[in-house]
Amino acid sequence: MMNVQNYIGGKFISAVDGETLFDYNPATEQHIATIPRSKNEDVQLAVTAAQSAQQDWGALSIDERAVWLDKIADALEMKSEEIANLETSDTGKPIALSRKVDAARSVSNFRFFADFSRNQTEMQFVMADAVNYVHRSPVGTVGLITPWNLPLYLLSWKVAPALLMGNTIVAKPSEFTPLTANILAETLDELEFPPGVFNLVHGLGHEVGQSILENEHIKGISFTGGTATGRTVAQTAAPMFKKLSLELGGKNATLVLKDANLDLAVEGAVRAAFTNSGQVCLCGSRILIDATIADAFREKFVEKVNQIRVGDPRDESTTMGSVISPQHLEKVESYIDLALQEGGTILTGGTRKLTGFSGPNQKGAFLLPTVISGLPHTSRCATEEIFGPVVTLHTFENELQAVEMANHSEYGLAGSVWTQDLERGRMVASQIETGIVWVNTWLHRDLRTPFGGVKNSGVGREGGRWSLEFFSELTNICVKDAKDES
Ligand code: NAP
Repeated sequence: MMNVQNYIGGKFISAVDGETLFDYNPATEQHIATIPRSKNEDVQLAVTAAQSAQQDWGALSIDERAVWLDKIADALEMKSEEIANLETSDTGKPIALSRKVDAARSVSNFRFFADFSRNQTEMQFVMADAVNYVHRSPVGTVGLITPWNLPLYLLSWKVAPALLMGNTIVAKPSEFTPLTANILAETLDELEFPPGVFNLVHGLGHEVGQSILENEHIKGISFTGGTATGRTVAQTAAPMFKKLSLELGGKNATLVLKDANLDLAVEGAVRAAFTNSGQVCLCGSRILIDATIADAFREKFVEKVNQIRVGDPRDESTTMGSVISPQHLEKVESYIDLALQEGGTILTGGTRKLTGFSGPNQKGAFLLPTVISGLPHTSRCATEEIFGPVVTLHTFENELQAVEMANHSEYGLAGSVWTQDLERGRMVASQIETGIVWVNTWLHRDLRTPFGGVKNSGVGREGGRWSLEFFSELTNICVKDAKDES
């Protein structure tokens, strides 16, 4: 059992009022850690520490800060196995996935931004009689609020560029997945990173998260999470004129055109639907298939889904673990019930998985990967974000209809198109109202590219230079020669 603490001003400390929360492993429902249930006083301490550290950290050159990012990447890389194990305990995701995605990407986020900064040049706009220099300053103290599905992956995606651009940080990870944020704090502490530059405050969203939003000294908020919470974030932070980046929910479409390489499309659609038990914001949770190939696709797809090995996340051969909590399992199951009420047919899955590894009570939030057909694309199951291992199949008659169906969503985060005609793929992709569309692939990421959503999937972009822009303020310095203007 771990006893996790806040990390404020370079010290590990309990919440001021001493209150704690339990952290559970969703695969076993065992209590694995105790974390502080922080409140406004704890956020105040973190903000004070951050503000004291701001001037010195902001005064370093970007190259000096990039050296720190490299040191952090190296130190995290040494702990990759520990990170993967903690991520698996906290989320119930398969250990192989935690290693390949969570641990690896957490390291590469720091390394990427360090390298990326070395290729940046100062922007200049030359006039006949003057030069405009685009000068970057830190925003100041920024609040970073992250969800449970990719805990250190998403936290480090914000921490790395925020540090690089000279900001100090008050971070709040999800109360469900505090363990790898704690590893990051321990790593910084071991590296003797300047105290107060990175502060970590654990607790509940509506308590500590809300205090971060409301704190007048926090000048920017980068939030990743659900759309409903994003609305609260915007309502609180926007009237205070904080810089705001919102990375929110999705209901992404996978479009299978009639000339798709069927085996490739099936494999990609399965990966898009069920990676991390369908709990990736980019997951393709509704599959739109050309009617002429729908039967063949459906048969191969269900066959492939039935090969997913659901079970003990610590087992190397497991390909799907639990969902994040018993409460979330109930929410996902309620959508399966709804699908039946809406007239859908369950082609496979639909029930809990008894894993057999967690004792006589068969504890653990496990669900079989579930495929539903026969629902209109306008049904609730096909339009609301379920965020679990559930996918709906729909058919279309032509590409125009496919695009209309894909765009019939309040969300606009991601999508994929499967076709052997690459030009057609690009053309269809350009008509889909989302922040990212893959053609013949899914979750193929180049960290230099813009990442974010449209509609209710968010505001702003992160990644590459867009992250550097979010985490800095730009001043145009126009320098004219000192000659008489007359
Ligand atoms: P969530 O409930 O919105 O929580 C996200 C974070 O916000 C958590 O740390 C949460 O703390 C905190 N929070 C909750 N209420 C708050 C408040 N009033 N003020 C400030 N912070 C508050 O989302 P989730 O269930 O953790 O994550 C799943 C959602 O995230 C899905 O909708 C998914 O699509 C989305 N997501 C989006 C992206 C993207 O890049 N677009 C990436 C990953 C996930 P607690 O945990 O303590 O409640």
